Amino acid sequence: MSRFPDFDYAARIAAIRGLMAETGCGALMLSVGADLPYFTGYEAMPLERLTMLVVPVDGDAVLVVPQLEVPRVERRDAFDIRAWDEGGDPVAIVAELASSTETVALGDTTWSTFLLGLQAAMPGTRFEDASLLTRELRMRKEPEEIRFLRQAAEATDRVVSRLESMRFSGRSEADLATAIRSMTVEEGHDLATFDIVASGPNSASPHHEPTEREIESGDIVVVDFGGRHRGYCSDTTRTFSVGEPTPEMAQAYDVLEAAQAAGRAAIAPGVTATSVDEATRLVIEEAGYGERFIHRTGHGIGLEGHEHPYIVEGNQLPLEAGMAFSIEPGIYLPGEWGMRLEDIVVCGDSGVDELNRSERHLRIVE
Ligand code: ZN
Ligand code: ZN
Ligand code: ZN
Repeated sequence: MSRFPDFDYAARIAAIRGLMAETGCGALMLSVGADLPYFTGYEAMPLERLTMLVVPVDGDAVLVVPQLEVPRVERRDAFDIRAWDEGGDPVAIVAELASSTETVALGDTTWSTFLLGLQAAMPGTRFEDASLLTRELRMRKEPEEIRFLRQAAEATDRVVSRLESMRFSGRSEADLATAIRSMTVEEGHDLATFDIVASGPNSASPHHEPTEREIESGDIVVVDFGGRHRGYCSDTTRTFSVGEPTPEMAQAYDVLEAAQAAGRAAIAPGVTATSVDEATRLVIEEAGYGERFIHRTGHGIGLEGHEHPYIVEGNQLPLEAGMAFSIEPGIYLPGEWGMRLEDIVVCGDSGVDELNRSERHLRIVE
């Protein structure tokens, strides 16, 4: 749980009401997940006791919250608080706040047990994914949000520079991952959220979890990690060579670096997400590694590590200033090695605004 900044939550609620009115949505209901803190600065405990923000299209926004958690809620003008006691029926309270609503936009990560209860209590109501609406606001970052994303990215860049002077060989992946988690916090995150340390043949698995495997000379090591800073996420990947890389590795890495540069260069308002994916992919395809780039080019980032917009083939969404996302091509040779290069970027008014700026070359470590 993070302490969230003092954004203009009332303005955000007003903005979502505008979108709700346009789409004929009667109420928004948000529980566990990132939409709730986006509109309230409060993150629900992921527990069996229901916490839910109810925003009727007209009428006051109300945060329904378990009595014992009320002390954790920072009071804001944007919403009223309605506490419920142990033994109370929070689903009935929520249903009453949105009674006679035809369409409800329900937070995507709301537990199914609450949705099932709401469906029983509101038989005439249709429930839709709230993210269809909330992404429209969350995708376009406010300058203050970009500031927190940049601070988080800079903190990961400092971790990367510290990694460069560390000895890799002789340590296990898990041991290096532990060191990365500590450095992630030391350099300016509230918490470290994930760490991938994938060495030797393990580097061919993009989401490899660190093992006891001992890193040795000749290994490629993919390090992909991040944390949360004031609620905002970081996510960067650098690839290291333990000792001199083979000519094949070095050549593949040059392709990877050129592909990532092509992806960054393609970014501008009005350019579609799919064409950024294509610009990146084309470089890898032309070098003959097309089949080895087995995932999308990137994902949005903000309060969640993966969110809209997705930089993926077929996504015709035009980029707009303020959208933040990763550019992270990879090349993976199963059983041999893999490599990935990932930076977080923002679409600026005329081109790319790079949040991660640590050196992008293949780093040679001992
Ligand atoms: Zn990933
Ligand atoms: Zn990553
Ligand atoms: Zn990523």
